Order: sequence, then C-alpha cells, then structure tokens
Amino acid sequence: MQTFQHYIDGAFHDAPSSFESLDPATGQPWARMPEARADEVNAAVAAARRAFHGAEWAGLTASQRGKLLLRLADLVEQNARLLAEIETRDTGKIIRETSAQIAYVAEYYRYYAGLADKIEGAHLPIDKPDMEVWLRREPVGVVAAVVPWNSQLFLSAVKIGPALAAGCTVVLKASEDGPAPMLEFARIFDQAGFPPGVLNVITGFGPECGAVLTRHPEVDHVAFTGGPTAGRQIVRNSAENLASTSLELGGKSPFIVFEDADIDSAVNAQVSGIFAATGQSCVAGSRLLVQNSIRETFLGRLRDKAEQIVIGSPADMATEVGPLCTARQRDTAVRLCELSVTQGARLVTGGRAIDGDGHYFPPTILDCTEAPTAACLTEEFFAPVLSAQGFDTETEALALANDTAYGLASGVFTRDLTRAHRMIRGIRAGVVWVNTYRAVSPMAPFGGHGLSGHGREGGLAAALDYTRIKTVWLRTSDAPIPDPFIMR
Ligand code: NAD
Repeated sequence: MQTFQHYIDGAFHDAPSSFESLDPATGQPWARMPEARADEVNAAVAAARRAFHGAEWAGLTASQRGKLLLRLADLVEQNARLLAEIETRDTGKIIRETSAQIAYVAEYYRYYAGLADKIEGAHLPIDKPDMEVWLRREPVGVVAAVVPWNSQLFLSAVKIGPALAAGCTVVLKASEDGPAPMLEFARIFDQAGFPPGVLNVITGFGPECGAVLTRHPEVDHVAFTGGPTAGRQIVRNSAENLASTSLELGGKSPFIVFEDADIDSAVNAQVSGIFAATGQSCVAGSRLLVQNSIRETFLGRLRDKAEQIVIGSPADMATEVGPLCTARQRDTAVRLCELSVTQGARLVTGGRAIDGDGHYFPPTILDCTEAPTAACLTEEFFAPVLSAQGFDTETEALALANDTAYGLASGVFTRDLTRAHRMIRGIRAGVVWVNTYRAVSPMAPFGGHGLSGHGREGGLAAALDYTRIKTVWLRTSDAPIPDPFIMR
C-alpha cells in the first residue's frame, strides 16, 4: 500500500494515527493516510502563523509572490498526469475529467500569479485640510482552507491561489475521503520555492481535525467548501476565533429548457450538467425544468443518451461515468431514489446501484411532474441523478426554479432574448448560464447564497476576500497641534 505524509512547515511528516483510503472502483484499501488530530493541527497553524510574520514571506514584494505562484503553476502543469492519476485512484473521478481539470488548475494559479501585484489600495479625497488618507490592502492572515473530496485540486486552487497572491499563509485540510491528490500536491508545491509554512497540507476527520482547525485562535479566515451541515458547524466554530468565513456549499440547481431552445444543445448541456463528475458536483444541474410541450421528447432524448453512457473504471479514458467516491454516497443515492419513487416520482432510467465491486450508481432520471413533494427535488444527492418537472408558462418556470433553499447555479435554454433577460433577473442564484452550462474561468467570480453559502471564489473578488483594509491618516501640516485644554 502506498503511504502519504502531512506537509507542515516545509517538511513531510508521519502522524501518530493513520487511516486507510479505499479505491472507489474496487472498494478495497489502496493507501494509508496520516490522520491529523489536535497536535498536528496546532503544529500546522503555528507554522502558518510564523511564516505569515516571517521576513522570508512577509518581506517579499507582491511581484515576488506572483513569481512563486507562476512557478507553482508550471509545476502543476508539468505534473498534471501524476496528479490526475492520483486523484482518479483515490476519489474515483474519471481520468478524462481529472486530466482536463488539472490542466485548468494551473491556469488558476497563473491568473492569481498575475493578480498578486494588482491588488491595490485607494486614496481618499478626504473632507479635511492638511490630511492624506489612504487605504492599504493587507493580507488577512492565516487561512484555514477546508475542502470536500470532489475536485480537491481545483477547489483548493481557488483558495490557495488568491490567499497566497494576497500574502496570506494557509493550512489546507484535505478531505478524509480521497486526500491523496492534496498530499501529492504538497510534494509539488514544495519544489516551487515558497518559504516553509506558507502552505501546510494535512488531512483528518471533521470533528477531530476540521473543527479544531476552524476554531483555532490563530486562524483569521476560514475558506470552506462542503455541505451545509458542516458549513453551519464552521460558522459556529468561528464564534470562537471570530474568523471571517467564505462558504461554498451545495446546490440544487435548476436547468430550464423552453420549447424554443436549441434542443440538441440543451440535451448535451443537460447530460454534462448532471452526469459529469458522476453527479458529484456542486453546480450539477440536478433539477430539469422543461416546458410541457416538449417534456416527453426531451426526456426521451435524455434517457437515450443516459443509457449509452459508458460506465467503467475511472482510470479508463473511455469511461464517462465512474464510481461514486464512497459507499455512503452510493447508499444515499439508492435511498433517495427509492423514497422519491414511493412519493410518486416516475423512474425514467437507472435508479438501482450496480452490482459488483466499487461504488457504482448509474445515470438516473426521475420525472417528478406528478410528485412535487418528492425528496429528490429538494435533497442534494451528489450522485448522477436528475429530477425533472414540467411547466407551462415562464412564470411557472421561475417559481419552480426559485423553489429551493439553495442559490448556487442555474441554466436557461431559450432563443428568446427578452425572455432570457427576464429569467436572468428573476432567478435567485449566484451564477446564471444562458444557452450553456458549467462554464468556469479564473476570471469569473463563483459562489452562491442561501443554503449555498456566501463569499465568492475566482476573479479579483476572491483575492480581495483574503485582504483587509487598513485606513491610514497622515497629517501634512507642520503647524503644532494646539493643546486641546487651553481655551482660546
Ligand atoms: P462535508 O461538508 O461533509 O465535508 C467537507 C469537508 O469539511 C471535509 O474535509 C470534512 O472533513 C470537513 N468537515 C466536516 N465536518 C466538519 C466540522 N465540524 N468542522 C470542520 N470541518 C468539517 O462535505 P462532503 O460530503 O465531503 O462534500 C459534499 C458537499 O460539498 C456537498 O454538499 C456539495 O454540494 C459540497 N460542495 C460544494 C461546492 C461548491 O463550490 N459550492 C463544491 C464541491 C462540493
């Protein structure tokens, strides 16, 4: 079995405890992971704190930080294949997706490398004579970054990139489900030439590691991606250290198709919108809202596509849907599908776990038009399960789209420009994709509201989240300041 180590203060360490990581394709252990508890968390935070104040990091110019990030981007690119293979092995994310995604992860580091020396302060035209007032943008401090198993290299890049560009230091807690890609990433990061302690990578479980980290008194900001349950816990933890938080939580995103849409494009976008990443994607377009006039045709086209999807080993380039990361995820999918069917949902395809080794669950479609209270319409599966509902009017489509506690992403397919604009205005979500779905870029802020969290990742907005403003007042007059207690 392969073994992995923590990366703390620029060195690799074993931990007193460890745990096995299972290969999702076989359900068998393949690697041993170090398990961080309080001692390891404390050591990682102390290293990040020392590095934050140390001259080796704090003394760098913003451009020098940018150059280090550029070197990291190049290293990620050079090691993309290795990182892709490890992520596929440990999380079951299919190799064709990990390969493509890691190449793009390098672009995120490159973008933030370029942004490092463009995070500007401001000068204020203050309403007082002989006074200069300006705002300095300073790094917020030690950042605790906590990520879930899916797309960890990507989800950590959107935290590490802006945090380091801003001059922060980071303790990253990899998910206990499939931490290998992040622990391997630490080896690559180590070659980039950052001072020790600027990034520390540990893994462990929520209560013993994540909770200790996120309420640690030396942590200034918590950047979290995960589910709403852990998200709430993080916010409670932040009552201890009063750290600021950014939360990227789940979604139950509507994918709305009007009868005038380009149907071929809408079908393909919906297939990738829900079945990419084997459905384990926060932006999954998991609620199809389709105009009733085309509902049967559209669902038939989707079913045909879903049934042709190649399910197989995640390591095989031909595979289009792989195993779910954990048996727990597969069992949730089984349970929610069964429950939804008993609540009146019509099973169009899929719906049962695939027998044999590994955590496989097939592409599944449920038509809930006659079952508006089915659990599959409200619960986030994190599995390749699409729930569909028909609508007649635009008003109805908007009401269904907004009938959710989440507010992360949304998609609208229509050729009617004015209707597209009305939908863009009306949909309550952090992202609206029109006649496309899933597009992301380092330049574009991403995030949600409601149960989907708060804060933005990507773009300049994310880098500013890792800074705080210092207001400077400088008196320019040489005239003595009069004694305030001498009456004139
Ligand atoms: P999770 O919330 O259970 O775990 C995420 C991380 O939080 C893990 O590293 C875990 O160890 C840690 N954690 C758990 N309890 C904690 C606690 N009390 N204190 C501190 N840390 C704790 O999520 P998951 O099941 O691993 O991932 C799936 C969820 O992530 C889904 O709900 C999905 O929508 C969400 N997600 C959101 C985005 C996004 O960008 N919005 C992206 C991917 C995944």
